[in-house]
Amino acid sequence: MKAIIPYSHQLLQEVIKPGDVAIDATCGNGNDALLLSKLVAENGRVFAFDIQQQAITRSREMLEQQNIKNVDLILDGHEHVQKYVHDTAVAGAIFNLGYLPKGDHSIVTTSDTTIEAIREISALLKKGGRIILVIYHGHPGGAEEKDNVLHFCQELNQKHYQVLQYQFINQVNQPPFIVAIEKLI
Ligand code: SAM
Repeated sequence: MKAIIPYSHQLLQEVIKPGDVAIDATCGNGNDALLLSKLVAENGRVFAFDIQQQAITRSREMLEQQNIKNVDLILDGHEHVQKYVHDTAVAGAIFNLGYLPKGDHSIVTTSDTTIEAIREISALLKKGGRIILVIYHGHPGGAEEKDNVLHFCQELNQKHYQVLQYQFINQVNQPPFIVAIEKLI
């Protein structure tokens, strides 16, 4: 069985191909943006969002060191994704919910904006495209976001989306889990 982060990457690798458009909805330190950049390759494009200047600066430095040129780093909330992404054939998107590792733990994702962003990105997905949510919920406010996001995903029309939950159920300390949304039509 794959651990959570490797499995989230596998779910992206299965659907994102060279030339595609992909979204990192919570850029943080840029690790997922780097993966997406490699998957879409030089002819593809990655849009990476974060509300913290610190996250954008760290990610910019890391991506520049690796000579990555196909990532647009956007200092704005993912709930405004449709202001920046006009392509309606997005192959994949990833959210890591929670706080910035090695950053300010009081700045966290919240259910209202997370759900709004999922709604907006799902409208941009191409058939077969996926939104991967890695749900960290051990921090203050995390349980409420988890419950609201799960409820939203459970209500998605099964004719339009299939939704997977991937979770280890015998681990201690509120471990993260995955919700993956795949567009069917
Ligand atoms: N994927 C990142 C990585 O590889 O380092 C980790 C992301 S971290 C768990 C969550 C990030 O979401 C934080 O950097 C936080 O600033 C950001 N965030 C919080 N609310 C946001 C919003 N509305 N739009 C975009 N990013 C947001």
